[in-house]
Amino acid sequence: MSQKTATHSNDNPFESMMSRFDEAARILGLDEGSYNVLKSPQKSVIVSIPVTMDNGTVQVFEGFRVVHNANLGPSKGGIRYSMDVNLDEVKALAAWMTWKCAVVGIPYGGGKGGIKCDPRKLSKGELERLTRAYTDLMVDVFGPDKDIPAPDMGTGQQEMAWIMDEYSKLVGYSSPAVVTGKPLVLGGSLGRVEATGRGVMVSTRSALSKLGISPVGCTCAVQGFGNVGSISAKLLAMQGMKVLAISDVTGGYYNPEGIDIEAAIAYRDSNGGTLEGFKAERISNEQLLELDVTVLVPAAMENQITADNADRIKAKVIVEGANGPTVANADEILNRKGIMVVPDILANAGGVTVSYFEWVQNRLGYFWTEERVNRRADRVMKTAFEAVYAASQKHNISMRIAAYVVSIGKVAEVEKLRGKFGI
Ligand code: GLU
Repeated sequence: MSQKTATHSNDNPFESMMSRFDEAARILGLDEGSYNVLKSPQKSVIVSIPVTMDNGTVQVFEGFRVVHNANLGPSKGGIRYSMDVNLDEVKALAAWMTWKCAVVGIPYGGGKGGIKCDPRKLSKGELERLTRAYTDLMVDVFGPDKDIPAPDMGTGQQEMAWIMDEYSKLVGYSSPAVVTGKPLVLGGSLGRVEATGRGVMVSTRSALSKLGISPVGCTCAVQGFGNVGSISAKLLAMQGMKVLAISDVTGGYYNPEGIDIEAAIAYRDSNGGTLEGFKAERISNEQLLELDVTVLVPAAMENQITADNADRIKAKVIVEGANGPTVANADEILNRKGIMVVPDILANAGGVTVSYFEWVQNRLGYFWTEERVNRRADRVMKTAFEAVYAASQKHNISMRIAAYVVSIGKVAEVEKLRGKFGI
């Protein structure tokens, strides 16, 4: 079978995803036909987006949307604005969404989008024209029953509002369920902004309880201080954990007594969005990963834990807030060291879970309380953790491969029931 002989390079996120897929496929005894169907994205769309800039010139941006698999339901996944966006990255992120939705048992397939741009260098008007033009070009791809975008790196509520508005204009009626992560007044859900960080916290608690470690007084380090990192850090501190270090693009900030996370968030928000100048000992992002802490939360971006630094990691538990923070050839080293890794497709699934609740509320035309959203999301996360943990025990495999086994097993079963073409 092809997956038995495949070798994959490690800095390419799609290849990194595929080497885990291969291992899970082997354990599942996936037939070659299903293997080939599930590894290939069902749809990849690349568009050139012309935008009139504030100075009157026209700039053309490259935009992507990949539907990896829509067997379990409409494809779901965020849209990323970053200079690193490329087709292989979007393909990997779309596949991760397929596995993520399946692992937590929500009725979605996986997709992802991206525009190669530096959003910090664009004015609000330029961002709006770019987002609306991208939506125009994707009108046949998106749809509340087809493909439902959400925020990701470099995008947030405002971009989702523009997408909702532009799509609604194009179809001729108000269509809030076409996108999630919207502002509350526009059909967003209570709890959505905090949802990914909250899921990271719930997963951390589950992992610690398996290891018999109390969260109270337990130390941690969080890489990345965007939506996911900062809220994870805040909620972990609220569990009584001591967050010794945080970081962002400006570097790492360390305090052996524990960082005051509320103060760090307030500082960031009044400081143009970065931690530059925040009072703490300065360390590098690399040093943060190697700190002597119980829990490490990489919540920044791909390819942070590699074969070069994995051996120096001292944490007992890694909870992946980011998508793809660990490259595939670091897995074995972490396993050998006995580190429990709660993989991205499980640990950061709280965001898409509450996206699903937002979509459900939009379709009901009804709003849930924050308490109801959180209670249901916590339940989904805990149940998924237990299912993955049980699979890891059953097959004697890591939590990462167990998460792939659980999710690929489900998607393959549906693919068998429905036939090869899904939608
Ligand atoms: N971008 C988030 C993720 O990677 C959320 C996706 C969504 O809510 O659809 O999981």
